[in-house]
Amino acid sequence: MNKTGYFTHGDCWKHEMGAGHPECPERLDAIEDRLLISGVGDALERRDAGIASLSDIELAHGRMFVAALRGLSDVLKEDILAGGPTHTQVDPDTSMNVSTWDAALRAAGAALAATDAVMAGELENAFCAIRPPGHHACRDKAMGFCFFNNVAIAAKYALERHGLKRVAIVDFDVHHGNGTEDIVAGDQRILMVSFFQHPFYPMGGTFSNASNLVNLPVPAYTKGPAVRELIEASWIPRLEAFRPEMIFISAGFDAHRDDDLGQMGLVEQDYAWITDRLKDVARRHASKRIVSCLEGGYNLSALARSVEAHIRVLADV
Ligand SMILES: [Zn+2]
Repeated sequence: MNKTGYFTHGDCWKHEMGAGHPECPERLDAIEDRLLISGVGDALERRDAGIASLSDIELAHGRMFVAALRGLSDVLKEDILAGGPTHTQVDPDTSMNVSTWDAALRAAGAALAATDAVMAGELENAFCAIRPPGHHACRDKAMGFCFFNNVAIAAKYALERHGLKRVAIVDFDVHHGNGTEDIVAGDQRILMVSFFQHPFYPMGGTFSNASNLVNLPVPAYTKGPAVRELIEASWIPRLEAFRPEMIFISAGFDAHRDDDLGQMGLVEQDYAWITDRLKDVARRHASKRIVSCLEGGYNLSALARSVEAHIRVLADV
């Protein structure tokens, strides 16, 4: 059996936010095509995502927020039947269609199923090819293309349901994971390390003094070598001292130099290098356990190449 899992679900393709929106179903097609053509897909254990239970989602989100999102989805379905619009806007760049609720449950469900499989020792690590993404979703707010915070839910789940004492969340998306920070700041069982373009959307990452956050704001046009230096100097010593029993990755690939939603200069080899460094930490402290969840990445070609590079390292192919 292959030791790296690949979790996804058809429902993740059905969520879409309108013509021309960069967070589109074609992102998953680009990844799938690349894994097929390169042969890397053959090295993966492919599994369908389950549906996250509301009680698991509520490990990271408020009950009223979850109920409100579900209500919005139900009202939208009624409105569409009555001839109303096909989308409901939850923030200026984020909207729901009839499939968003199911896709969001599957996205979180993928992260949870991957966590279960890795904890059970069936897999060493896993990549979740999911949308909607999660790291801008706050405890009580959907925003920035995100509804449920897949990584934060899975991290809390690993602590609460699997009894781990310490888990790390690593976020290399070009945007700051403000939602994850909102949910985990001050929770000393979780160490969150990230870098992000700054100043930039969503303008966070520099306010919290919580000691479990390692936020590294970097200016636009920062390239891979500088990022690697920062990671070596800041992330790695903190991760080594923290000794996480499992590592969750908010794997956004929009810091790639070809991605127009950010202005940073990473390339595929940088993602491979970062993944390798994290694998090294996981090998020493976490029985190799890594669950990586797709976040951003909007240039389809660069996204697909970067995911391939990331997965090649995870799966040793
Ligand atoms: Zn992003």
